[in-house]
Parts: sequence; structure tokens; C-alpha cells
Amino acid sequence: MINLYDFEHNKLEKIMLGEGQKPYRATQLFVWMYEKKVFSFDEMTDISIKFRDVLNEKYCLWLPKIFAKQVSQDGTIKLLLELHDGNKVETVLMRYNYGCAVCVSSQVGCNMACSFCSSGTLGKVRNLTPGEMVGQIMVINQILKEEGLGQHVTHVVVMGTGEPFDNYENVMDFIRIINFQKGLAIGARHITVSTCGLIDGIRKYAKEGLQTNLAISLHAPNDKLRNVLMKINKVYPLEMLMSAVKEYEFVADRRVTYEYLLLEGINDTKECANELIELIKGTKGYVNLIPYNETNKNNYKRSSGNRVHAFLDYLTKGGVTATIRKEFGSDIDAACGQLRAKAEVKI
Ligand code: SAH
Repeated sequence: MINLYDFEHNKLEKIMLGEGQKPYRATQLFVWMYEKKVFSFDEMTDISIKFRDVLNEKYCLWLPKIFAKQVSQDGTIKLLLELHDGNKVETVLMRYNYGCAVCVSSQVGCNMACSFCSSGTLGKVRNLTPGEMVGQIMVINQILKEEGLGQHVTHVVVMGTGEPFDNYENVMDFIRIINFQKGLAIGARHITVSTCGLIDGIRKYAKEGLQTNLAISLHAPNDKLRNVLMKINKVYPLEMLMSAVKEYEFVADRRVTYEYLLLEGINDTKECANELIELIKGTKGYVNLIPYNETNKNNYKRSSGNRVHAFLDYLTKGGVTATIRKEFGSDIDAACGQLRAKAEVKI
């Protein structure tokens, strides 16, 4: 069975042509699937019964199943979703005053093996298909619909488990699907992809002509420290990364966000702040400071509130725009990869 959630509009048009249909059939399907959000072909009443039979025979509208659900006191919902092959991925809904944001996973596990991150401890099992990423949003939308408050997903960050640029084409198709006007119509500027620094991906992404956002997981201001925290730095050291960022800023005409986790005594010192200011000087990006979620997989400690604010002060005084990331769901397993890692142990 072919899952129709896997196809962006152009590809769906080609499939419809292959079925002897007119291209507008693809738009019709998009409206039913994403605007009207029906989950069976039989409800698609403006499609002939004959063609609905063909759809039922060869195609499906497959969505992941909710395996575990945690609801935080602040309304954050963390789902562990089961895929058709039994693999599991995490998805998180965060509620801002400006809308509902979903943190989407792009792979089952991750191969980047950053030393502070529990997602990497399980290794990469496989890439997610576009439909499995779209499915994460559809399931959250269904939960929001059941709440009856008239809300739906307005913002998407590809910051769950996985490295999106290690699954480049599928992530791009996913973006095209959710951004499509007659689909979920999530505005490009409300979509952010986060990378640990795969520079080929950054360069390609710059040329997509999208108005989407890019976040770079920086976490260290020099190669010596970044090599320890993020293995990928040995392949693409900071000089290469920063030159790709500058190229992105020029070609895409967009500024990036630098994500910077604060680990007590490791990368939260005044020296690090000064090095960071120097490193990103020639770029237009701004820094998002992330309070670290401690895990039992390593000994890194979360920087105290005082140190986080001191770091922010150093950056601000150095002329760098920086914010502290708002935290969600700290009473549930909020740290990246924790929920899946836990469930995996239980099974
Ligand atoms: N591979 C991509 C996207 C997934 S990770 C990337 O590296 O950007 C999303 C973000 O969460 C990254 O900035 C990552 O460094 C951060 N992160 C990982 N473990 C964390 C933890 N325990 N606490 C807080 N942030 C964490």
C-alpha cells in the first residue's frame, strides 16, 4: 500500500497522471486530506466511486499510532508514536501565546552522537518518510480538534530526534507538504529546520528558495570544545561551518538562529561568551540559549539560572542579540530522546 501522506503536491500530481486522472485530482486529495482532514477515501464525496475503489485498493492514508502520551501542567503534550514497523518516534506540542508549535522528529534514532544528547545513544535506525513526519502533525491536530478550542498546528520545528540534513530530501518534501496553500498551509516563516552543522545540507537548503528558518546547533565557540561535545565538528570544523552559514545568509537572504546549550562549567564561562561573540561577529544570526535538560546518560550539569543570565549579559554587552529559550514540559520527560529511550528499555 502506498501512503498518500508521503507525497508533496507535484509528486501527487504525477501519481494521479499515472492513474489516468487529471492533475487537479491531486489538489482535490490535498483539500480532503489536509484542509478537511478526513481519514478515509470513502468520505471524499467529489471523487467518483470508481476511482475511490482504485484508491482503496492501492493507496492508504496511514498515520502513526499513539503509543504513549504525557501531558504537562503547562499543557505541553509529548507523544511517543508507533510507526507501521514498530519503531517509535517522539513528537512534542508546545503552546505559545501566538500559536501551537510542534517539535517533529526526522529519523528513528540519530547517528550524530553528540555527547550531551540522549537521542544519539540509540544510533540511527532509519530515516522517516515525509508521510511519517506529516503524520506527527496530523496526530497532534487531531488531539487539538478533540480539545474543541478551535486550535491547530501553526508552527513547526524540526528539532526532535534525528538530523534533518541526514534525511534531506524527505525533510524537504515534508516542508513542501505542510507549507502548501491547499494543504496544512503552515507559513514558511513558521517552519524551522535545526542542524548540527552538515554543511552540504546548509548549502542546498540555501538554494531551495524557501522562506523557512534555519537553526544551527552550535553549543561551543571553539573547535577544541566542539570536538568533545559534537563529533560532527571533526568532519566540519567551525571555520567550514561558519563559511557555510555566511553563504546561506547571502544566498537565502535569511539570518540563522544559533542554538547554544548551557552546560555548567563547560561552555558557560565568560571566556566562552567572548569567543562566541568573536565567532559569530561577521554574521547576522542571533543566539538562543538553551537550559540543558539533564539526562542520566552523562554527567553534564545544567547551568544555574545565575550563570545563564550572566552569559546572556556578556553576549548582550558584546553586541550579540540573544534570548533564553522558554522551557516546556519540565515535569514530563522533556529531555530530547528520553521518552523513547525509556520505552525502549521497558519493551
Ligand atoms: N540534529 C538536529 C536537530 C535535533 S536536536 C540538531 O542538532 O540541531 C535539537 C536541539 O536539541 C539541538 O540543538 C540539540 O543540541 C538540543 N539538545 C539535545 N539534547 C538536549 C538536552 N538534553 N537538553 C536540551 N537540549 C538538547
